[in-house]
Amino acid sequence: MSERIDRAASFGQNLYVDTRGAAGEPVPFTEAVINGLAVGGGLYVPQELPSLTVDEIARLAELPYAERAATIYRAFNIDLPDEVIDGLMGRAYGDNFDDAAICPITSLDDDTHILELWHGPTSAFKDMALQCLPQFFSASASALREAGALDHEFLILVATSGDTGKAALEGFKDADGVRIGVLFPDGGVSDIQRKQMVTTTGDNVRVWAVRGNFDDCQTGVKRIFSDEAFAEQLLAEDAIALSSANSINWGRLLPQVVYYISSYAELVAAGKVAAGAEIDVCVPTGNFGNILAAWYAKQIGVPIDMLFCASNDNRVLTDFINTGTYDISDRAFILTSSPSMDILVSSNLERQLFELTGRDPEAIRQWMADLSEKRCFRVDPATFARVRENFSADSVDNATCLATIKAVLDEYDYLIDPHTAVAFAAAQNLRGENPVLIASTAHWAKFGDNVYRALHGMEPGEALPADVAALTGCELNRLIAEETGKDDIPAGLANLDGMEVRFTDVIDGNVGAIESAAQAFLRR
Ligand SMILES: *Cc1c(COP(=O)(O)O)cnc(C)c1O
Repeated sequence: MSERIDRAASFGQNLYVDTRGAAGEPVPFTEAVINGLAVGGGLYVPQELPSLTVDEIARLAELPYAERAATIYRAFNIDLPDEVIDGLMGRAYGDNFDDAAICPITSLDDDTHILELWHGPTSAFKDMALQCLPQFFSASASALREAGALDHEFLILVATSGDTGKAALEGFKDADGVRIGVLFPDGGVSDIQRKQMVTTTGDNVRVWAVRGNFDDCQTGVKRIFSDEAFAEQLLAEDAIALSSANSINWGRLLPQVVYYISSYAELVAAGKVAAGAEIDVCVPTGNFGNILAAWYAKQIGVPIDMLFCASNDNRVLTDFINTGTYDISDRAFILTSSPSMDILVSSNLERQLFELTGRDPEAIRQWMADLSEKRCFRVDPATFARVRENFSADSVDNATCLATIKAVLDEYDYLIDPHTAVAFAAAQNLRGENPVLIASTAHWAKFGDNVYRALHGMEPGEALPADVAALTGCELNRLIAEETGKDDIPAGLANLDGMEVRFTDVIDGNVGAIESAAQAFLRR
């Protein structure tokens, strides 16, 4: 252990503490990435945040995106050599994105700027983190291995309702020392999402359809993570440890901090915002990861005034921001037109509350205990005041979401996906004088069915006409492209019908079935 701390010390002093104060000694970046969750259930946050001047931020615009990201990682003093960081960032943000700017900004008018986070290989914003984290995961593992602190490889297991699985597969395919298995509900994801997953290339990947719904997949995977006998057996017989690399991993959050800093630099360089002038940022939120990243960017020095939290009908976060009470005791999980934000327990809120309490692990332990016992917690007045200083929130129902897609196309000739539409509609309700940067989290062609409903004035969830319902996801997207003149369907989505299906296994969702599928994959 002391050897590892020494390693960190030689690169700077930025160690990671955990939100519940239960994990003991702080750890360096590499260990925070490998561990994911801290012992005791807390989440890692860096002991110190860097601070950048507006001038330093603006100058980032002179660099290509990969170098901006490397600059910010270095400012965080992570325990990897500079040239290693440069190399990893070059691989994370290169021609795997279909735009040289990586996440370009489209301005709809002088004060409404759309940050397009979907130019990566899977056309959803999770690529921004999942093209980067696996590079750092492999490098962290090999650094720890060299230091004698690690003597095994990893199996990443992911349960997905659609977007995350494919982004994780693309990120981890062919990564050193890692294998990845993804479980999705059989019949529970769109045609596009299923084909994206089962056609994934790479030698270290496996995909299973599970009989059941997403909850069955998720519960199965969670049980495996708590099956200690299985973990011991994998380690002893296969030299493999399980890992989840899910959105509470600090290594997924930091790449998201980068794009909020970078996009301010872009706005200034393009003359759209005066250096130092404040902007507001609006984020369609589920797990609170993306909006928390914007809050960190603000702490580091980006002139962000308000953070707008945009919810769909699963409005637990909006209610929390408006009342100070997080309550899921009597809240049903609602299926919406923006499914990637359908969530009840928003895990990254824990980090935000840790920060807003002035880093009080005792308060966090109490609230998280209340959440698991009473399905409800209430923050103290001082913390609530800080929430209100930083955030405002609104929820957008399905009908408004679909109407917004149509209205934005009609007014700006710009086609957005349902998640971006939730953010756009919330921003219209919450905005004041400042220019607004709206996080656009998916390409429209990932959610063609709801885009079709929007453009044809259909009700949310209404059955598509028989001839349209008979189309594959790719064919439906081509129809929409013809109708709208938006022929910008990303190659990774356009060609799915012609790609080889590599994975056809359908398994049961119980622990035994998943564990034997995982073992068969490891020993093939
Ligand atoms: C995951 C996802 C979100 C929600 O992001 P969080 O970080 O969980 O808040 C929003 N939109 C899309 C398209 C997503 O895939």
